Amino acid sequence: MTSQQPIGPLPPGATIGILGGGQLGRMLSVAASRLGLACHIYDPDPNAPAAQVAAKHVVAGYDDIAALTAFARGVDVITYEFENIPTAALDALEALRPIHPNRRALATAQDRIVEKQFLVGLGLNVAPFAPVNSLADLQAALASIGTPAILKTTRLGYDGKGQVRINATDEAEAAWAQMAGAASVLEGFVAFEREISVIAARGPDGAVTCYDPGENVHKSGILHTTTVPATLKAGQHMDAVLLAGRILNALDYIGVMGVELFVTGSGLIVNEIAPRVHNSGHWTQNACLVDQFEQHIRAIAGWKLGDGSRHANALMTNLIGDDVNIWPSTADALHLYGKAEARPGRKMGHTIRISPKS
Ligand code: ATP
Ligand code: MG
Repeated sequence: MTSQQPIGPLPPGATIGILGGGQLGRMLSVAASRLGLACHIYDPDPNAPAAQVAAKHVVAGYDDIAALTAFARGVDVITYEFENIPTAALDALEALRPIHPNRRALATAQDRIVEKQFLVGLGLNVAPFAPVNSLADLQAALASIGTPAILKTTRLGYDGKGQVRINATDEAEAAWAQMAGAASVLEGFVAFEREISVIAARGPDGAVTCYDPGENVHKSGILHTTTVPATLKAGQHMDAVLLAGRILNALDYIGVMGVELFVTGSGLIVNEIAPRVHNSGHWTQNACLVDQFEQHIRAIAGWKLGDGSRHANALMTNLIGDDVNIWPSTADALHLYGKAEARPGRKMGHTIRISPKS
């Protein structure tokens, strides 16, 4: 069986395998259990947050082919909560069980250059960009793209890690040194009015549904708040939803995807896509009948997508590091991830406040 073969609806009692046991895996596991499905988590960390709420936790590395093989045999379908899964691991898993979202979606999102080329191929707008593999490349890229600009590693970045902002061309040498030789991409800085994201889902039958776009504010490179509805001009809401649908259709996608967008005076620019449930979609937990986690599980289990329409306005606030210590005093809906240590920059939980729908 390969990921290209459609799966019939998995019956209640079936088992979902999740690669990665962080908070996203944890919330997927909770959603699956509500649907009568079990989850097995694969994560090398014995204290993985998802393991606390899953039927089984395989503690092994992504290079352990024997452990991966045994994991795959114990589940009916495989999904993941992060993008950086080694190719050899995916090959071993895919030989045994379907993986959703599919390999093409993952390969596209794993590499910022492949991702941008794919988006451009769909006729969508991205920031001006150029591959950078040397200081000379960076100098040439700065000459054509200009400053300010952002140098990013093509792979393995998250929460703004692996990125350096360049405000003047004489910062090139120091910026390139920070990349430590990693394949990189220079992006022109987009003077956006706001950042939004569309959480979209596509089922095995090709049905697509999008949650209302949320407006995102970052603090120190990490998502701070998502507010729904986003402040958008007439037409932008539909533009955002339509472009998300095109991306999912083009990838023959099954599952939930986060599409991050910059809103500018001359239209929408795609920042990046995440082939998984997304932090900026957590608000759906308390403002929609069916949240992004249930929607993802439904899609990968071959079920009909649920009703993702919004019944409230929402404000989601991430609890980063010591922010989590507000828990005794907040009256907002509270979602904590069961992480023992509140290190700076670590996502510990989030709150959601809802208000009447506008
Ligand atoms: P995350 O894991 O939070 O999605 P990431 O590490 O994948 O982050 P990006 O989404 O590329 O990184 O960038 C993080 C944030 O930095 C963006 O949401 C945006 O606020 C800012 N940013 C990134 N690239 C640009 C750009 N070209 N122009 C303007 N701002 C940018
Ligand atoms: Mg991002």
